[in-house]
Amino acid sequence: MNISSIDVYPVTLPMKQNFSTSRGQVGNKNAGAPHVYVRIRTDEGLCGWGEARPSPRWSYETLESVVSAIRNYFDEAIEGVSIFNLEKIHTLMDQQIASGLTRGQPIAKAAIDMAVMDLIGKATKQPLSQVWFSEQKDKIALSYLISVKTVEEAIEKAEEAKVAGYTGIDLKIGFDPKRDIEIVRNVKKVHPDAFLRVDANQGYSLKEAMQVSKKLEEIGVDVLEQPLAASDLLGHAELRKYTEIPIALDESVWTPADVARAIEFRACDAIVIKVTKMGGLSNAKNCGEIAKAAGFDLLGGGLTESSLGLYASSHLFHSLNITTPVDLNGPMFLQDDPSKIKANVENGQVKLPFGNGIGWEVDLEKLGSLHTAHNKPRTITTKVFREGY
Ligand SMILES: [Mg+2]
Repeated sequence: MNISSIDVYPVTLPMKQNFSTSRGQVGNKNAGAPHVYVRIRTDEGLCGWGEARPSPRWSYETLESVVSAIRNYFDEAIEGVSIFNLEKIHTLMDQQIASGLTRGQPIAKAAIDMAVMDLIGKATKQPLSQVWFSEQKDKIALSYLISVKTVEEAIEKAEEAKVAGYTGIDLKIGFDPKRDIEIVRNVKKVHPDAFLRVDANQGYSLKEAMQVSKKLEEIGVDVLEQPLAASDLLGHAELRKYTEIPIALDESVWTPADVARAIEFRACDAIVIKVTKMGGLSNAKNCGEIAKAAGFDLLGGGLTESSLGLYASSHLFHSLNITTPVDLNGPMFLQDDPSKIKANVENGQVKLPFGNGIGWEVDLEKLGSLHTAHNKPRTITTKVFREGY
């Protein structure tokens, strides 16, 4: 069964609230969120779906670069290839857009990989979990994301998380060490039983991270994620020797080779698995398995994907036996998406679909209208330079 065509649908999904990390604003309520849906058809009439969620403040890919990579580079290269030869599909994509220090355009490649994995499940009439020889589970526990500037807001959000039944909190820090500590302390006080994952998104220097880690030990957090720059594996290794708090790497680890380097440098205790940054389900699974074999813990994460990406990632996290609440926060931030059955959070958990492949079903009418709205001509503002500047 071979790939016969690829359709790309860039859309802007409406958001419920803004979203910032120490790297700046990654989601804007007024501008909406960039998502790219990909449909791959086969010569036997099956359709597979994939999603890319580029987040340029988090990594270099943009909505435009994802669309261009798929339409202008991958489409022609993988047309006619068997859906069961995913290895070849990745080789062809890597030939089209080569690696730099790490895999080139992983978020665009992830959408293709996800759609092909969906097709493999559909073509063999199995849910993804079965394709991976694992158990299909019907729910996943999410962490509640808190990214705020004041202690008061943090207390309010932690109370919301507790009342809503979340058993995990993903707390964004890395803004200002002193204020970060006060925010963590108060969140812990409000919801002491939650699995508390604090994520600095590369926001600290080594000295700051050392100081913060000692305070975090007193407060009692479960894991400190990506305190230092993505490239600074030696710094993370040094910090790890200094503190008892487990250190997780997220932005440092994109490929199996990155996992191997983290092992070599003894740079962390846990790896954050994300389908999009790792170039798709198959590569994320490879990364997870290597990390597990090396004795690392695994954490599940995402880039606020919509229901499609959330369901696909959840099936993978279950198959990797990730048991802590995962950071798939799309439902917290997105008002709408083109799914027939949207991911809905109840008691901090999302019900997962049973069905062949990912089990996601598209609402084509909704996708069409979101796509048309996204492509409406927009007013282009030009910078006016005053004389003398
Ligand atoms: Mg992270």
